[in-house]
Amino acid sequence: MQYIHNYINGELVPAISGIYIDNVEPATGMVFSQIARSGAADVQKAYEAGKSAFESWKNLGAEKRSHILLKIAELIEQNADALAHAESQDNGKPVWLAKKMDIWRASQNIRFYATASLHASNHTYQNPDNINYTLREPLGVVACISPWNLPLYLFTWKIAPALASGNCVIAKPSELTPLTAYLFSEICIKAGLPAGVLNILHGYGYEVGEAMVSHPKIKAVSFTGGTKTGAHIAGIAAPMFKKLSLELGGKNPTIIFASADYEKALETTVRASFLNQGEICLCGSRIFVEESIYERFRNDLVEKIKKLKVGDPQDDTNFMGALVSEGHMQKVLSYIELAQQEGGTILTGGKRLQPEGRCQNGYFVEPTLIEGLSYDCRTNQEEIFGPVATITPFKTEEEVLSYANSVEYGLACSLWTNDLSQAHRIAGKIESGIVWVNCWLLRDLRTPFGGMKSSGVGREGGFEALQFFTEEKNVCIQF
Ligand code: NDP
Repeated sequence: MQYIHNYINGELVPAISGIYIDNVEPATGMVFSQIARSGAADVQKAYEAGKSAFESWKNLGAEKRSHILLKIAELIEQNADALAHAESQDNGKPVWLAKKMDIWRASQNIRFYATASLHASNHTYQNPDNINYTLREPLGVVACISPWNLPLYLFTWKIAPALASGNCVIAKPSELTPLTAYLFSEICIKAGLPAGVLNILHGYGYEVGEAMVSHPKIKAVSFTGGTKTGAHIAGIAAPMFKKLSLELGGKNPTIIFASADYEKALETTVRASFLNQGEICLCGSRIFVEESIYERFRNDLVEKIKKLKVGDPQDDTNFMGALVSEGHMQKVLSYIELAQQEGGTILTGGKRLQPEGRCQNGYFVEPTLIEGLSYDCRTNQEEIFGPVATITPFKTEEEVLSYANSVEYGLACSLWTNDLSQAHRIAGKIESGIVWVNCWLLRDLRTPFGGMKSSGVGREGGFEALQFFTEEKNVCIQF
């Protein structure tokens, strides 16, 4: 049995409580490791380690910090196979996907911020008898809290800019998927990251996560997770005037006009709806198709979905693996039930799947497409976060815009049209942080990333994240 310990002050240590939580492999339903159950006392210990390390990490300078971060990225790449297997075992996603998407991106996140921090610059404002210039300084000890769907990918997306800009970090992965964060702590030790600069705590969000958010000396909280949790965290952090970055839920539209490149739109819609079992905040779960091509597109989409292979994540021929937990699988199945009560017709999928062999008790759900629902029913308004998409026809731009913008979320949109003016018109009117035109999940790490409405507050990515993790100071000198 593997034990997943905290990483505090450069050492791997059990939680002060001495208690462990079972870690279940979603593909089999079996417990395969034990997770340290941390709480407020562990947060205090990690805070003290971070505080002691802060001055020397800050004063090390961007270039020397960059060398260490690049070493970490290199070690991720060297251990990509082991990390991908661990991610798959912990989360249920296929190994091939973990390797191609999660682990690759984790090393890219670190490389990106290790080098971006070398190019950050400040401002000057010149006058005849005075000058103003700005300084950017790291905040101190900051908290990074990430979810289970893209475990190491999102964990490093937060940690990298925080460390590169000179902060010390206390980070917490989801207790559902702590394994790659634990392996990452071993990598940090090997790479020579000074003790206390990064501290990783494991355990329940409502215990150790909340203790991190509530700690009076932790200066900023960067959080990715559900909208409800985000609101709860904001309620604690805002009165303490902590800096807060919130990346929250989504209910993203895929909009397909008749002029679109049909085959590319079809192919990408399948990926956008079901990649990673539909457990990506950017997945398109509401598919809107222009009426003139609706019937053909729907029928072709159903055929494509029926061909998707679901099963053992260790089998590279499977497109989809297991959902992250039994509780999450039950939630997804309950939404499929709700969709039928709301008058929807299941075109394909709709059931739990129990493959023969080692994965018989795993948490698999068939990729599911539902038709015949109104745009404002609960199935079309609430985040399901699984392999479930709805399909709806539309006649006009105005109509599809009103459907697309009707939800409380505003994270991403995938828009398919070959009419350039239409693309610009819709991109300007869609309420979402990202609009992909004739593509999906094409990410340039320099671009701002985040959501509108209940999908979040603030932006990650590019220099935005370096700005979040620093405080700007203006110096004014009269000659
Ligand atoms: P949760 O909100 O349940 O959890 C996110 C993280 O917060 C986990 O580490 C969790 O710990 C922790 N947490 C839970 N409660 C608290 C608390 N009271 N105080 C501090 N931390 C807490 O989200 P999920 O893990 O279920 O992730 C899925 C959600 O994340 C979806 O809504 C999805 O859309 C969103 N998401 C958004 C993205 C974006 O970029 N906008 C990207 C990816 C996902 P634990 O799990 O251990 O309880």
